[in-house]
Formats: sequence, structure tokens, C-alpha cells
Amino acid sequence: MKEPDVLVVGGGPAGMNAALAAAESGASVVLVDRFAKLGGQLVKQTHKFFGWADRGAGARGIELAQKWSHAVLAQPQVETYLGKEMIGAYRDGIWLVADQEKYIKIKPKRTVIATGASEKMILFENNDLPGVYGAGAVQTLMNSYGILPGEHYLIVGSGNVGVIVAYQLLQAGAVVRAVIDVLPRLGGAYWVHAAKIQRAGIPILLQRTITGVYGNQKVERAETVGVDDKFRLIPGTERTFRVDVVCLAVGLTPLSDLLFELGIQEYYIPELGGFVPWHDQTGRTNRKDLFVVGDVSGIEEATTASLQGRIAGLTAASDLGYAVDEQMRRRLIEALAEFRCSTLSQNVCSGLDRLAGKEASQ
Ligand SMILES: Cc1cc2nc3c(=O)[nH]c(=O)nc-3n(C[C@H](O)[C@H](O)[C@H](O)COP(=O)(O)OP(=O)(O)OC[C@H]3O[C@@H](n4cnc5c(N)ncnc54)[C@H](O)[C@@H]3O)c2cc1C
Repeated sequence: MKEPDVLVVGGGPAGMNAALAAAESGASVVLVDRFAKLGGQLVKQTHKFFGWADRGAGARGIELAQKWSHAVLAQPQVETYLGKEMIGAYRDGIWLVADQEKYIKIKPKRTVIATGASEKMILFENNDLPGVYGAGAVQTLMNSYGILPGEHYLIVGSGNVGVIVAYQLLQAGAVVRAVIDVLPRLGGAYWVHAAKIQRAGIPILLQRTITGVYGNQKVERAETVGVDDKFRLIPGTERTFRVDVVCLAVGLTPLSDLLFELGIQEYYIPELGGFVPWHDQTGRTNRKDLFVVGDVSGIEEATTASLQGRIAGLTAASDLGYAVDEQMRRRLIEALAEFRCSTLSQNVCSGLDRLAGKEASQ
């Protein structure tokens, strides 16, 4: 059985930074990711990142993934288990990693959960017909595996993910018929990609929703309809799109199954993506030895994920008696608060305030 000081589950920006911060403070770290490559969402982000310049904004996601993954792999204090899935934990503190035919047991002193998020689904007729994808899944196929799952696309959701995937589909030579959104305004806060796709002739149709997809064994057309200010369907505004792929970009929700198994206290905070684990400003949950960082703690972005990772990594190391630069830890906590409360993330900020107002029970 492995007995590291710190176990990190998830090798995205949050997990990599947690592992680096703990290891640089002297702690022994095991980092587990179910993919063969470190980087999480970053490995498919070919666009220049929005966010905060001090934490990588302006660089492409794939460049950030490379920078942090090289640092992790070069760090002698970090042992990485890639292509292996964390499947659960026992209440006595032993974690179980599935490694093909066998299981690896890990008993850490501290654990940082950085498992990210999963895509949300919406209801419409035949939403299980082949050709209906999460936008993130299409992005993975396209940018990580070089596969376009179809030729003609309808994107549902005009948030950052929807418009970025629409733009990348365009770059890959696909035809994007339209981006639709049920809201009366763009869902995303960063308009650069929305402007780019509109300049390329892709309409963004607001106050419109999808009602069904139809075809012989696979999507051949999508039906949409306009909605009023109360989201009621408006008869007579139906519109058909001839597409073979519908990309759903309707939001992300924290991937918190492991936390649920452990009985970590969660609250429903819609601004943060759904059920989120209660945690303090260092990421510590109601279980003293367990931290949450990045999207699993509430949907935000790579800037905040990397900062949260650093703070939790330093705090975990400090708990175990390693000498940690306290000034730096405080500066990181302040930087995180400052970035979150910029005008771009007010929604997140109010969600975090609501979470902070909740009780932690032991
Ligand atoms: C299309 C798109 C565009 C984006 N653009 C931007 C942008 O421009 N700027 C920005 O700041 N942010 C952007 N983001 C958001 C950003 O990518 C995420 O907020 C960030 O990656 C979250 O980091 P994370 O480490 O929490 O999770 P992730 O990056 O999702 O990493 C989680 C990791 O955990 C692993 N994992 C999950 N479960 C297990 C398990 N049971 N066992 C082992 N491993 C597990 C996964 O394999 C994954 O590698 C974008 C996201 C998308 C989808």
C-alpha cells in the first residue's frame, strides 16, 4: 500500500498546481488521473485563454497544460499514476485506484480532490439519438483525437464553451448552422469568440430552444422554436436545421461522485453549477484531511483552479509540519478573492458568498 503525505485526484490545472505546491514544500505526493496525459480540460483548449494574465491568460490552454505537466513530471517528490481511475474511498482513509486488472491502495495523510466537472444535459425529444453530443466531447474528439463527428452542426448554448467550440469547429472546416440560446442575451462573459463566429456568418439566435432531433438511427435534423420572456414556446416561430450533430453547451456541473460517497457536505448553489462541497478559503471540506479545488468545488475557470490548487497544496503541506511560505499562501488567498470579485465573475462571487454562509458540519 502507498502511503504518501498528499494524494491528489485529478491532473487538470487545479490538481497539477496542488501537487506542485505540496511537493515544493517537501511533501511526498501521489497524483492520479484517469487519462494518459496530464492537463485535464487544458489539453484540448487551442484558443488563447481568458482570465488573469498573472495566471496564464493570453497563453493557449495547451501551452499551460505543457508548462505545468512538465513541472509535475520533473518533480521528484510527485509520483504520477496516469490512465488510472480513482474509484472510491473507504471510511478508514484508504483510497482505491483501478489499474486495469488490479487495484492500487493508497493511504494518504491529506487528500486533494480535483476531478473537474461533467457536462449537463437537457430534455428534448430523442435526445439520446446518435449525433447528440456534449460540446466538450466534440472538442475532445476534434482537438485531442483529430476526429470530426459530423459535417453540419447546431450548437445549443451561447456561453463561453458554446461559442469557443463553434469557432474551433469552423477552424476545423465544419459547417456550423447556428448557435441558439434560450436566454435573451449571450450566455458567456467573454465576447471575442462570439464576435468572431458572427463575423464568419454564423448566427447567434437568442430566445430560441431545441424541441427535438429526428432521423433514421442518427440525427438528420433538429427542430427549434422561439421562446418568450417567461420561456414559453411561441407557436409559429419553429425553425428546422439540417444537421448531423447537435452540440449541447448548456453548462457544467461538479464531478463530485467521490465526495458524495464519502458523505462530504454539499449544498445546491446554481451559480456554481449545482451541488458543491462546502469548503473554506483553503479548499478544506468538513473533513479536515480532505480538500476540494477547481471545478469540482464550483464551476469557474483555469485561473481560479490553479490558484485554488496552489493554496490547498500549501495548506496540506503546512498541516503536516512542512515549512511553508505563509506570506505567499496569504498572497495567493488574497489574489484568488481579488480575481473572483472582478466584474467578470460576479455570478460566481455571489454563489461563493452563499456557500460561505452555509454551515460546515463535522
Ligand atoms: C470549451 C472550454 C473552453 C474553456 N476556456 C477557458 C478559458 O479560455 N479560460 C479559462 O480560464 N478557463 C477555460 N475553460 C475552463 C477550464 O478549462 C476549467 O475551468 C479548468 O480546466 C478546471 O480545472 P480542474 O483542474 O478543476 O478540472 P479539469 O481540467 O477538468 O481536470 C480534472 C481532471 O480530473 C481527472 N479525473 C476526474 N475524475 C477522476 C477520477 N475518478 N480518477 C482519476 N482522475 C479523474 C480528469 O481526467 C481530468 O484530467 C474552458 C473550458 C471549456 C470546456
